[in-house]
Amino acid sequence: MSVMKKKKLIAGNWKMNGSLAANEALLKALLQDIGAPACDVAVCVPAPYLAQVQALAAGSPIAVGAQDLSAQPQGAFTGEQSALMLKDFGVRYAIVGHSERRQYHGESDELVAAKTAAALANGITPIVCVGETLAQREAGETEEVVKRQLAAVIHVNGHCISEIVVAYEPVWAIGTGKTATPEQAQAVHAVLRAQLHHAASDHADGIRILYGGSMNAANAAELLAQPDIDGGLIGGASLKAPDFLQIIAAAR
Ligand code: PEP
Repeated sequence: MSVMKKKKLIAGNWKMNGSLAANEALLKALLQDIGAPACDVAVCVPAPYLAQVQALAAGSPIAVGAQDLSAQPQGAFTGEQSALMLKDFGVRYAIVGHSERRQYHGESDELVAAKTAAALANGITPIVCVGETLAQREAGETEEVVKRQLAAVIHVNGHCISEIVVAYEPVWAIGTGKTATPEQAQAVHAVLRAQLHHAASDHADGIRILYGGSMNAANAAELLAQPDIDGGLIGGASLKAPDFLQIIAAAR
């Protein structure tokens, strides 16, 4: 259980959504009402829109994040973006190991760990996603799966993990409208916190563990009230300004 008060982080994951016009409208609506939030806020946007969103959000409480990055520093890796390139666009956060990348792009625990290292080496905060599928949960494997995924990241990154953000995202809750109950989420967060304690004893309480999976304006406050839930990674609801703003307001 977390004893140290830290700022929560609410990060939107736009996934492969948006357009120049839609992004501008969304950012303007967010900026109009965001005020001075009690939590840190980020939007993780598709790579082509990094420059646009960076310009729109400049000087505001909204930080810009990417949804992925390459584990490689540069070179013949067609289609990839390096951490340094993201830095060029003022990127503060990068989602790493999202379940959609693990599922559709075959990303292994080892690759996720290497991407985490690339982000950390370049001053980008990786939001490292872990989470079990429905079949794994039903087989009683939740703890084993998330611990294995996080262990790979800890193994490669050692004490640097004090700089990461972890996101627990049960795969069965992503984009399905089926949210983990606050108790289910807290139980897994406590497991992850204990694992972080083991690896980074002095800093584990300062590492933010976000919940992600159909978090919305109606369920955010209850989830965010759990002792080891330090914020949210929000997909669908981050595309609607009023909903995202309500989640931000619930994170204090
Ligand atoms: C996500 O994509 O990380 C996510 C949590 O999506 P949603 O909020 O739509 O379930």
